[in-house]
Amino acid sequence: MTAVLPDPVAPPPAYPGTSSLAEIEARQITAWFGERKVLDRVSLVMPAGGITALIGPSGCGKSTFLRILNRMHELVPSASLAGEVLLDGEDVYDPSRRLMDARRQIGMVFQKPNPFPAMSIQENVLAGLKLTGTKASKSERADLVESCLVKGGLWNEVKDRLDAPGGGLSGGQQQRLCIARSLAIKPRVLLMDEPCSALDPTSTRVIEETMLDLAREVTIVIVTHNMQQAARVSGQCAFFLASQGTPGVIVEHGDTTAMFGNPRDQRTADYVNGRF
Ligand code: ADP
Ligand code: MG
Repeated sequence: MTAVLPDPVAPPPAYPGTSSLAEIEARQITAWFGERKVLDRVSLVMPAGGITALIGPSGCGKSTFLRILNRMHELVPSASLAGEVLLDGEDVYDPSRRLMDARRQIGMVFQKPNPFPAMSIQENVLAGLKLTGTKASKSERADLVESCLVKGGLWNEVKDRLDAPGGGLSGGQQQRLCIARSLAIKPRVLLMDEPCSALDPTSTRVIEETMLDLAREVTIVIVTHNMQQAARVSGQCAFFLASQGTPGVIVEHGDTTAMFGNPRDQRTADYVNGRF
């Protein structure tokens, strides 16, 4: 894929990260469904070891952007795109790279918790190993189940019933199980599309704490409609907007505290202050 026009968005400010974590960068992403352009030259660096929040009204292309980052966009037959996605500088769309490799390195958690309901809790955590063809001994699998459930903030609640079905957990627990499942294949980036929208405030809080812990080992990109949540968890933020049928663009991005406290663009100010 080639970028055709100059990037109108300046790179975000430097952000503290660690070298072992992967940065993910979108360059000049333009996306279509059929003839309809839904994103227009969106560029964003999501720094290693940080939480980047994507905010903006419904329909402005946040989920599409997220799905482009791990090549899920191409599952939609009418979908096409231009631009580049780089994971630590490497092209995620390189034709010589296996699709599963991109998906393995860039995990996704969805709005609605979607564990395999009839599978046990531990089978859910291990499900990704089968998909990626990863071999692990029995003791390695047991260790992995424990470490992923610990990281997902669920271990203490389920350690005595790992064989119980995933579908029997509460909504918040199911979402944490999905986080644990996505961690089992050791992604370098975790994409989260409104992961708390279907949850009560207590579960939301637990997931936020889990995210903040996880950000030490995996780069997180979260879509959220909850401004307080964006302020609580993210170091940097990007405001997407699609006005009156035009494709989605990033209006403003940068340090979350600065953007919420002192937005540069009036449209950002209106949005973060709940005026539309
Ligand atoms: P957001 O997540 O910000 O609410 P989306 O990325 O879901 O926005 O959608 C952006 C635009 O793309 C919307 O106009 C939506 O209707 C359209 N869109 C999303 N998915 C599809 C699809 N599978 N087919 C056609 N249009 C789609
Ligand atoms: Mg969405």
